[in-house]
Amino acid sequence: MHQLVFATNNTHKLEEVAAKIEGQIKLLSLNDINCTDDIAETGETFRENASIKSHYVYNKYKLDCFGDDSGLEIDALNGEPGVYSARYAGEHGNHDANINKVLASLQNVTGRKARFYTVISLIWNGEEHLFDGTIEGTICQERSGSEGFGYDPIFQPDGYDVTFAEMSLDEKNKISHRAIAMEKLIDFLNGR
Ligand code: IMP
Repeated sequence: MHQLVFATNNTHKLEEVAAKIEGQIKLLSLNDINCTDDIAETGETFRENASIKSHYVYNKYKLDCFGDDSGLEIDALNGEPGVYSARYAGEHGNHDANINKVLASLQNVTGRKARFYTVISLIWNGEEHLFDGTIEGTICQERSGSEGFGYDPIFQPDGYDVTFAEMSLDEKNKISHRAIAMEKLIDFLNGR
């Protein structure tokens, strides 16, 4: 089976993506290839950051790989937290503080439209290919659910009356931004 490195150690993302490509591709994480480097996300766009991650791994290990960068864009906050989604409240990956900051920022604002966006940069046989995915939704007044990660407890996708954190992995994986981008990547690999 073909091996593909996902340039992340985010176990939630790995689980989501592994469930999508099970039986088709052997997915390796950064840990699996003994890469303990902290790859700095210094880009100003999702695309740049995704590309930084995939190129870092490819240049160092010469393995087929992909990196993703994703985040939440809230219209009423001019697209924030955007590329800063993971560290919106300061500390990287403090999801609870990030959610508190979003809820506080939206307190006196009308309109709660938002979307999750993902860009994947795949390096396949030395060439870069880009795939993206979006899911539109609304930011809730308060948290609901305990599944998923990040902003899932306050994000309700359009057409649903539950948040991402109230969905099973399977349900989220049918509609999420990352799932849409991954399906494009899988279609690309199937066409090879
Ligand atoms: P990344 O790991 O640099 O792509 O940063 C992504 C950040 O965006 C995460 O730390 C989360 O805060 C947020 N995020 C991305 N995808 C999701 C998702 O599926 N659910 C909830 N939050 C997400």
